[in-house]
Amino acid sequence: MAHNPRKRFGQNFLQDQTVIYDIISSIQTKPGEHWVEIGPGLGALTAPLLSEGVRLDVIELDRDLVALLKEQFKQKNQLQIHSADALKFDFSALAEENEKLRIIGNLPYNISTPLMFHLLDNAYCIEDMHFMLQKEVVDRICAAPGSKKYGRLSIMMQYYCAPELLFDVPPESFEPAPQVMSAIVRLVPHTTPPVKVNDITKLNRVVTEAFSQRRKTLRNSLKKLISEENIAALNIDATLRAENISLNDFAKLSNLLSEIPS
Ligand code: SAM
Repeated sequence: MAHNPRKRFGQNFLQDQTVIYDIISSIQTKPGEHWVEIGPGLGALTAPLLSEGVRLDVIELDRDLVALLKEQFKQKNQLQIHSADALKFDFSALAEENEKLRIIGNLPYNISTPLMFHLLDNAYCIEDMHFMLQKEVVDRICAAPGSKKYGRLSIMMQYYCAPELLFDVPPESFEPAPQVMSAIVRLVPHTTPPVKVNDITKLNRVVTEAFSQRRKTLRNSLKKLISEENIAALNIDATLRAENISLNDFAKLSNLLSEIPS
């Protein structure tokens, strides 16, 4: 390897050919599709994606890797390499009129959550996203009410998209090996939101407050925002905890909050 992995950029390079094959099989590319890869690194996913005949934009923060990628793929004219920070990148600028992008990335773990929300700001031009994340994060994204993993990340992500855990990936599939198990998740943005939310900032507020003390009942955790009577008027049992409340109920609570003058 002509590159020393940099911890600060979350560089754990995929080296297991079976995992790479499984990822490429599960994403089902079609020739001519427009794909965007975040953090191509040394090209473990870039090369097989190009072999599938797709158009590909890649966004890489590490300039040394950008130089290596430019050299490695200089003959691939269906590839555009962007030397940029994906957290600040305008993904909508890549999509041509009425075009929907397919996104993929073995994401640096330290930026994965803000990056997913940044992408979901542009969900209208995204067909789907496939990410390698810490398994713990994938479990939280996919969790249903009643589960210990169910929380703010589950609700906010499920508001924007349908998540699906595809498969787990063990540490030894990477060089260097991370400390934890990873997993591949598929996220398909909803074309119509599953519930009506008047103000997304209010949904975020009510969910954050409700989960700030998981063990408390809604009556107590939401005391500062919504009275017990108002919670009951929505047909929501205020003696339940946040982890037992559905996205639909959180939407109702946030819509009520948006009607209360602050
Ligand atoms: N895709 C490669 C693979 O599977 O082997 C590399 C994955 S490695 C976990 C994460 C990659 O994201 C690294 O190449 C790293 O330099 C890059 N990266 C880190 N932060 C980034 C950011 N903010 N924007 C774009 N790329 C970033």
